Amino acid sequence: MYPRLQNLFLNSLGEASDSSVTALADVVTLPAQSILIEQGAPTQYVYLLTSGLASMVNTMPDGSTAEVGVCGREGPIGAADLFGQGSTGCIMQIAGDGLRIPVDAFRQLLHESAEVRGRTLEFMQNTIAGLGQISACNRLHSAEARLARWLLMVQDRVEGKTVPVKQACLAQMLGSRRTTITMAAAIMKRNGWIGYNRGRIQILDRRLLKSAACTCYPVLDRLYRELYSTASL
Ligand SMILES: [Zn+2]
Repeated sequence: MYPRLQNLFLNSLGEASDSSVTALADVVTLPAQSILIEQGAPTQYVYLLTSGLASMVNTMPDGSTAEVGVCGREGPIGAADLFGQGSTGCIMQIAGDGLRIPVDAFRQLLHESAEVRGRTLEFMQNTIAGLGQISACNRLHSAEARLARWLLMVQDRVEGKTVPVKQACLAQMLGSRRTTITMAAAIMKRNGWIGYNRGRIQILDRRLLKSAACTCYPVLDRLYRELYSTASL
């Protein structure tokens, strides 16, 4: 068994729908850097995380990457790629656990359950809004403001003060040079907003980090907080 309250999508469903989803699922452990969705490859599974964090990452032909979204326990990861290939890759950024459902079975469930379909569409609408915001953010906002925004979003999802991510991964996720991210992180450390060592970042002053984040954070925060708010409609 898994703790039901640990996945927000499952938690938004009534008992019958929740059971019909979990009956199709295997419980899986997902180490950091596990590939959940491979960009350009047929989608195989839909994932519902119960811990950890996944990054949606777009990879260019020259190998450069940028993160276009994060997803923790709000799932279902893969919902945007149910009918073909993964449009954007998705990897585990922070190790965790979750449920894994074959994509064919999940697609069939969408036909059978209006409730599962409705919650999945709500998640997809929310995801599309987030993708648009982060795409604009990657183009318009400074590395320091984006780093602050990213750390807050990750902390919201891992619900702890420590974010186990190396600086090299941060640069990859934010689509910036490593030196740029190193400098931004050093300024934050000097200001007492964060601390870091050995691949772990500690959020020391969330209030000041919020003031340093770009205006995308409140928008993305609201999307996260209001997800599944139509569940009672
Ligand atoms: Zn921004």
